[in-house]
Amino acid sequence: MQTNKRKGPMETPNDHNRPALDALSRIYRLYDDYINSFSLACRKHCADCCTISVTLTSLEGRMIYAFAGPEKSEPLFYKMLESTNMPRFQPAMTTNQYARLCTEHRDPPEEQFPEKPGVCPLLENDVCSIYPVRPFGCRSMVSSEPCRRTGSAHMDDFTLTVNTMFLQIIEQLDRHGFSGNLVDVLLKLRNSGDTSNSGDTILNSSELSMVSPELRELLLPNEPITALMIPQEHYRKILPLLNTLNHILNEAPAFSAP
Ligand code: SF4
Repeated sequence: MQTNKRKGPMETPNDHNRPALDALSRIYRLYDDYINSFSLACRKHCADCCTISVTLTSLEGRMIYAFAGPEKSEPLFYKMLESTNMPRFQPAMTTNQYARLCTEHRDPPEEQFPEKPGVCPLLENDVCSIYPVRPFGCRSMVSSEPCRRTGSAHMDDFTLTVNTMFLQIIEQLDRHGFSGNLVDVLLKLRNSGDTSNSGDTILNSSELSMVSPELRELLLPNEPITALMIPQEHYRKILPLLNTLNHILNEAPAFSAP
């Protein structure tokens, strides 16, 4: 029977993740600065888009664990365990995989969206408990109109192109990692002791039995970028952002584009 064991001293950070986490922080900041220059309807305590269907890369999951620190990582993990029965979106492909399939003129796999996804387990009193490190999928859910009034987020075509480009770059940065639903990614990272905190508790057998046995199948290997999904008419306007993103990637040697 497997027992809980420590992987290392609780205080020691996982330094090999640091350059990639720093690059991810810069990418988040670049996006926030860009998007905050527009007038948005999104406000604190408006959590209409905070469902459990949020998706992210493994690097983004590591950033959440790094933010939680050794003390809060355990309760965070158990919140995820308690959410495994909730219906949630579990993607069938990553953004870069979709882009590759398009360039190969192949049909992408069909995505299944749950009718009523539950509330995100990281939402507390209508406020995100990990707001500074919320994944890009949450950051990019912006709207120029109050969603509550219109029933959905309003984004123009250029914002959608910008969002897709950032998703592709974030996947490129973590191209040796994986992607999936928030719950599945955070469970997998913790299950393998692969958060940004040393001293992770490896799951004992009863905890392991609560983790979906198909967890591995629910996660998707990330892919490098084969083609950026930027329509011709957006290319000139998006170029300054793209140049800055490339610069950030090139300064994160272990994760930069080949
Ligand atoms: S992680 Fe935070 S911002 Fe994202 S859906 Fe959950 S509560 Fe909302």
